[in-house]
Amino acid sequence: MKTDILLAESAGFCMGVSLALSKLNMALEQISHRQIFTFGPIIHNPQVLAFYKEKGVRITEDWNEPEPGDIVLIRAHGIPLKIEDKLTKRNVSIIDATCPKVKKAQLLIAKDSQSYECLLLYGESDHPEVKGLLSYANSRAHLFEDMKQLKSLNIEAGKHYRLAAQTTQDKEQFELISAYLQKKLAHDLLILDTICDATKNRQVETIEIAKQVDCMIVVGGKDSGNTRRLCKVAMEHCSACFHIETENEISLDIISGFSSFGLTAGASTPDDTINKVYHKLKNMLVFENTSQLDTGFNSTILKKH
Ligand code: SF4
Repeated sequence: MKTDILLAESAGFCMGVSLALSKLNMALEQISHRQIFTFGPIIHNPQVLAFYKEKGVRITEDWNEPEPGDIVLIRAHGIPLKIEDKLTKRNVSIIDATCPKVKKAQLLIAKDSQSYECLLLYGESDHPEVKGLLSYANSRAHLFEDMKQLKSLNIEAGKHYRLAAQTTQDKEQFELISAYLQKKLAHDLLILDTICDATKNRQVETIEIAKQVDCMIVVGGKDSGNTRRLCKVAMEHCSACFHIETENEISLDIISGFSSFGLTAGASTPDDTINKVYHKLKNMLVFENTSQLDTGFNSTILKKH
């Protein structure tokens, strides 16, 4: 029996998450006498959050909670303009760790926004990045989560619309949405390029791997939107997909019956966690093969390591 594990090169922290964590680490190293807050969880990964809690970092969602002189780090998702303004007036020190790509999306939405009647934003209504993006539109805005919701909106030909997406949205869906609106609005539509390449590349690589294996394992926080979307795209191209947070969730029950595995991870999953999952999976497969008196195990790592 031959068993492959294809590990995605794109698995793990993206540039925006790495940058935000390095800003937080630097603040912890350099500022020991002031309380450090992050405005919302720095990333959607419970193990990483527990690590920073241990170091004294507090999470707040309330601009009124930090005292003057405290440090507030804006995470990679960014925050709404009004909240940033309130924090500034409260005399807290702000460390802006908004991902450069989210910042680009905010600025594109803000640019010339008064010349357009309405922003159409493809994103999740309860996502913090989306709340931030909407605050940059100086016009009416409609938020929609899928094509069905978009079709239910009252979109009037002859008015000027802009279309943008939350940075981590699915690229293929956004292209379908763009084509639908272009047909309806023609020259009255401006499409803003706000989807992040890291997300696109991770999704494309996940699809490539999912097509080649029996079972996909996606590692990342259960609250992480980009990890959940990876599972969704994997499921469309593979018969089985498991979303796990750590290696502790892998068991012989999960892996039995499959002959090839794909392994990828969301943008907020540390390399250490991915490595532990990889090695546990590999060891279990060796065990399973050995117990079947079959020594044909062959672990193939795709591109990485
Ligand atoms: S997924 Fe892209 S936009 Fe989001 S934080 Fe990472 S690099 Fe930035």
